Amino acid sequence: TDRPIRRALLSVSDKTGLVDFARALSERGVALISTGGTAKALKDAGLAVSDVSDVTGFPEMMDGRVKTLHPSVHGGLLMIRGNEEHEKSAADHGIAPIDLLVVNLYPFEETLKKNAPHDDMIENIDVGGPAMIRGAAKNHADVTVVVDTKDYAAVLGAMDANGGATTQKFREALAAKAFARASAYDAAIASYLSRHIGESAMSFGAMSASLGQTLRYGENPHQTGSLWLTQDQRPGVATARQVQGKELSYNNINDTDAAFELVAEFDPANTAACAIIKHANPCGVAEAGDVAEAYRRALAADPVSAFGGIVAVNRTLDAEAAAEMVKIFTEVIIAPDASDEAIQIIGAKKNLRLLLTGGLPDTRAGGLIVKSVAGGLLMQSRDNVVVDDLELKVVTKRTPTSAELADLLFAMRVVKHVKSNAIVYAKGGATVGIGAGQMSRVDSARIAVTKAEEIAREAGRTDSPTKGSVVASDAFFPFADGLLTAIQAGATAAIQPGGSVRDNEVVNVADEHGIAMILMGVRHFRH
Ligand code: 5GP
Repeated sequence: TDRPIRRALLSVSDKTGLVDFARALSERGVALISTGGTAKALKDAGLAVSDVSDVTGFPEMMDGRVKTLHPSVHGGLLMIRGNEEHEKSAADHGIAPIDLLVVNLYPFEETLKKNAPHDDMIENIDVGGPAMIRGAAKNHADVTVVVDTKDYAAVLGAMDANGGATTQKFREALAAKAFARASAYDAAIASYLSRHIGESAMSFGAMSASLGQTLRYGENPHQTGSLWLTQDQRPGVATARQVQGKELSYNNINDTDAAFELVAEFDPANTAACAIIKHANPCGVAEAGDVAEAYRRALAADPVSAFGGIVAVNRTLDAEAAAEMVKIFTEVIIAPDASDEAIQIIGAKKNLRLLLTGGLPDTRAGGLIVKSVAGGLLMQSRDNVVVDDLELKVVTKRTPTSAELADLLFAMRVVKHVKSNAIVYAKGGATVGIGAGQMSRVDSARIAVTKAEEIAREAGRTDSPTKGSVVASDAFFPFADGLLTAIQAGATAAIQPGGSVRDNEVVNVADEHGIAMILMGVRHFRH
């Protein structure tokens, strides 16, 4: 049975919303108990509150290390209501039940961000808070536990709807959240301490993670899978709102991430961009004046591969684009936002997953990439280099025309998101051929051309699709053969990092054929 909340313990470091919440509880007849700073804030606001030291019979001591660690508190949180023996022990020792626990912890993570000295870090390890959270969350059959200031309103709402009590289901959800918070907190402490004793420091800053979702399975049905949420604020697949559609799979999440990170390379203020992804590689990418046109062009780049793909756009999804997208089978659509009309149109396809992120991630932001290897984790910072920030060096006799330059920059944004060895041909702001994941660069260059010709043939076209295109390579051409393949296919300009011992040979080949070439100095391997 759900008992009305009569007695609450509030002990918070982050006092956001505290006074209003406590006042609302007080107005509902709830007696308040608080620790030092929290009690002071409540008294200053004119609320009646008892000090936890009066409940425990001990002063808060040892710099606040011992405040609530007492049977009067923990008994009140852990006692099973209606259990004869528990009730008797409580009565014998003068312990009264605590029905609501409101705690947020010493700001360990925030202190970490300030690069505080080690002593401060240690002092910011909360002990009593997590202990109470655990007790209350374990006993969620009887106790409501709140660890997030954003949940205050929901608690009052639940009480008002239920005669002053919360519901079992709500308490359960809050308990799960409480344990997730406690484990993320402990993970942050553990990683801080292990770094403190380690010799070479590596920032795990945003890496304390909590379980977001258990997935039906992993990459294959015989593997398990789950999605973990980190603390970083990057808008994307992990934190997106799923408006509709089937549950996301492990592969969906992986591919959707690749798709959205790619379109984020395009500034929505300048251009609408669309990427269609299969197996974490783009099969078609295009930019245009609006989202619908960008989608049509991305689809036309490889309509066969696009079947069952993941579609990402960099602007609000509008009705016209949505109407185009529902024409073929697509697994996921991800966008910063969508119009009501677009959402309605997508609604006709019940299984189609629609994810809205609320914004685009910052391509220049830092962050960590994690991959596991046998016996360890391989970590690196994000590839946050953007072509616009680079010094582009024309190394050929001919300088790219402005149309070529636009396509070179477009192709470079795309090739950064193609698995290596990666080669991208582009024309007029759309990909015409993509060579991905080959063990030799010349193979990627050839495969991209073959694919482009195949696609054109299937579309009934007789022109050469790569004629007049530009080519981008994610790493230098080790030999001239890769570039020659592109030249023979009709490419007129190229962009690549450079840095090969044979750069001269490659530049000479370009000059012989009147090709314009840019070296941008930065490699974009991606595996
Ligand atoms: P206040 O600002 O009310 O003085 O302190 C609130 C903070 O104290 C909360 O973050 C809470 O988690 C923490 N806290 C409550 N009881 C104890 C305790 O017994 N030991 C320690 N170290 N922290 C506690």
